[in-house]
Amino acid sequence: MTKRIVLIGHPVAHSLSGAMQQAAFDKLGIDARYELWDRAPIALAETITELRADEFLGANVTIPHKERVVPLVDRLTEEAHVTGAVNTITREGKKLVGHNTDVPGFKVALDRLVGRQKMPRHAVVLGAGGGARAVVYGLIREGFQRIIVFNRHLHRAESLVKHFGRSAAHMELRAMPWHESIIEAELAKTKVLINATSIGLTADETPLPAAILPPELLVLDLIYDRTRLLRDAEAAGCTVADGEQMLLHQGAASFTLWTGQPAPLELMGEALADARARGVRSAEGEPADPVGGAAAGSAPESAAS
Ligand code: NDP
Repeated sequence: MTKRIVLIGHPVAHSLSGAMQQAAFDKLGIDARYELWDRAPIALAETITELRADEFLGANVTIPHKERVVPLVDRLTEEAHVTGAVNTITREGKKLVGHNTDVPGFKVALDRLVGRQKMPRHAVVLGAGGGARAVVYGLIREGFQRIIVFNRHLHRAESLVKHFGRSAAHMELRAMPWHESIIEAELAKTKVLINATSIGLTADETPLPAAILPPELLVLDLIYDRTRLLRDAEAAGCTVADGEQMLLHQGAASFTLWTGQPAPLELMGEALADARARGVRSAEGEPADPVGGAAAGSAPESAAS
């Protein structure tokens, strides 16, 4: 029986993850199909129940469901529990386990960005969604002593900070209102800037004006693209990286959880690059354009809802 793995999100019309995972299953001769399921929040509980059937190996969960799915699974790994976000589901019999492979994916991206320098201790994070939760947890685990979170809706950044209360008790984790002058003052005191908002994903927009970016900052944009933020930061003299390594390594970790086998990293990286060359920009998908087709790996029945 062909096993099924689904990406549950809204929207999921195109997906880099689909291209990367299907290439890995095919290469290793695993009879499995990676499908894209576009499901609105109201249908999420019913969708998760479907995954308990034997034909499913598991799922990826993405925008906007990573936090909502937490109470719908039977068990959480430590990383999913601490972040309060799930991006991967596996099955143990009829039971579902929630994992967060964005956390190890972010660690690889951060290590590559920092390179041979000493790991910094201060960071500014833009965004407070599921991706930002993995970032903040990764920074706490890495020993950062001061993390400032800016978000358009301040209350969401405050909830994030509250959520990490105990794990961040030994350090300074604060939510601050999104005002350029405050962000500028914080950037002057920090070494690392992470963009975990989706600004720049579908349009050539940037969360910050170029003028407030100090040189010598390490800048990571979770978006898998050379965004305007990264171009501006590079022009200002910063070291920059996009979300490629995080995407690749979270995907590789998910693949291993589903199959028990090491992921073919190089091949998955090539599949990502191919999909990107075809114009796919998002890990999770973007609204379908009227002339574009479904992404590789999408099943005909997956377009519903
Ligand atoms: P969520 O939907 O959970 O969060 C989106 C975030 O972006 C929120 O902080 C939201 O702010 C902010 N945002 C969206 N639009 C605007 C806007 N117009 N102005 C200001 N803020 C805005 O998404 P995720 O956290 O899952 O993903 C965020 C980004 O990170 C996406 O681009 C995603 O592709 C990327 N990502 C990449 C990964 C990788 O492997 N490379 C892994 C995970 C995420 P508010 O709360 O105020 O709405």
